[in-house]
Amino acid sequence: MDARELARQGYIILDNHMHLREDGRFLSAVDMFLSAGGNSINLVNLPSSSIPPAEYYKTLYEKTLRMATRIREERSIPVLVTLGPYPLDYFMFSRAGMDPVNEMRRGIDLAAKYSQDGLCNAMGEVGRPHFPVPEYDLERSNAILSYAMETCADNHIPVILHTEDLSRDKYGELELMATKAGMKPDNVIKHHALPGDLQYSSALKKSILASRNNVRTAVGIKGDFFLETDYVDDPESWKVIPPDSVPRRISMIVQENNGWAKIIDRCCRSLPKEIYGEDAFARLES
Ligand SMILES: [Zn+2]
Repeated sequence: MDARELARQGYIILDNHMHLREDGRFLSAVDMFLSAGGNSINLVNLPSSSIPPAEYYKTLYEKTLRMATRIREERSIPVLVTLGPYPLDYFMFSRAGMDPVNEMRRGIDLAAKYSQDGLCNAMGEVGRPHFPVPEYDLERSNAILSYAMETCADNHIPVILHTEDLSRDKYGELELMATKAGMKPDNVIKHHALPGDLQYSSALKKSILASRNNVRTAVGIKGDFFLETDYVDDPESWKVIPPDSVPRRISMIVQENNGWAKIIDRCCRSLPKEIYGEDAFARLES
């Protein structure tokens, strides 16, 4: 039994965080994923320095939606779309002499509009820089994040977080921030979570980079997790990890665990449907 066989049986083999570029490996990266047994992608917009700051989000989102459409049409798989302002866009707008808070709030509103039109499944990756920044910028980033959470609550979509590595206390703070914004903390996904985070009782969902060590640790701790590659589709590298990693790790879970059926059922069936909805994966049944 491997990911390919599971996919044939109707399991959702989801890369929960993938970036692609029309001018990168694009469809050949998707094909690597498919041939290892993957069958569903959460496509997250990839910041691009080649897009002028004016009209930034409209251009970026449309690029992402165009790629999603092409993959669905040419490879017949579900492609979920995650749109939103990347935390480091803040500095791009500052450098351009624009107000980052205004611009990023507008980016959030625009992502919400696409979700209302049924074109976007989640908002992200939003949050705050993963490295230390001045207090003023951190406060403003948190204000933008709160606004994103409020908008997700209003539009009933999950939010995908990009932040620094989180301690137990930081998970608690973000859970509180979500609750205050009117969101169910279960619909908040921490992208690039560490497998050790599964020990925390936080309701936030953890999406873990699908390296062998991470997956073995996560399975050992138990708890809900998504797997992701955070693939950035730079033809010069395979960063963050190659696009076939998730299905390969799913195959590894089956090989290494007698109790794999329960793990796989949660990770590849009930959890993705719970967070993104049955409809998001309808294409697998057709
Ligand atoms: Zn990312």
